[in-house]
Amino acid sequence: MKIPLPSKFIYYTNDRTASAYVRKNTLYINGLISWEKLAYDLCYALNGRKVCTYCGKTVKKSKMTLDHMFPRFFGGVSIPTNLTPACKSCNNKKSDLNYYEFKVFRTMNEKDGKRYRMSIYRKKRKIRFQRGFDLPRNWTTSMDIKDIIARPIPDDGRNQKKYQRVTHFVERYGHLPNPIVVSANDVLLEGNTIYWVAVDFGFEYVQVIKLDNVFVKLR
Ligand SMILES: [Zn+2]
Repeated sequence: MKIPLPSKFIYYTNDRTASAYVRKNTLYINGLISWEKLAYDLCYALNGRKVCTYCGKTVKKSKMTLDHMFPRFFGGVSIPTNLTPACKSCNNKKSDLNYYEFKVFRTMNEKDGKRYRMSIYRKKRKIRFQRGFDLPRNWTTSMDIKDIIARPIPDDGRNQKKYQRVTHFVERYGHLPNPIVVSANDVLLEGNTIYWVAVDFGFEYVQVIKLDNVFVKLR
């Protein structure tokens, strides 16, 4: 999929050893950058950080958060397509609901809302355990794990706790809990831990979200 990008965008890491920029609706990444930080920055560059997507209120910078429209727990990754500015209050209320479900939820009274939330949660837990995640089907595609180029990414290493969590999930349900995000030239952007667990368990194919307008310049 192609992600939405701001027309002008330049990003440097603190030590200036890596950078990213947008040209002709394509994002180029040089060097090692935490994808998540970059994705957040892109989202703010696209949407600003003043107005909450859900309640429409203008809030202080410190009260603004980025919401995963399709929640992380159900496979929602950090890509601009899936991120939107939301005030802390809306983000908390939304919790495990997705963007569309939350819009419905907001029209309900407290009692109906509670019931609605529970029914959605039950249904989606089942989906998560049966096929791993709950995202629009055209977001993901299957990819040979041998074709993915993994690099060490700052802040997203082979964290022990995270690694164990994913390992337990795979042992229990037989599949990976989340998709992996790769660039157009097959470089791993998000899902380091998932990737390594997949390698260690001998998975041949993995579900990926391929960003067709993001290129990583390899050195
Ligand atoms: Zn709000």
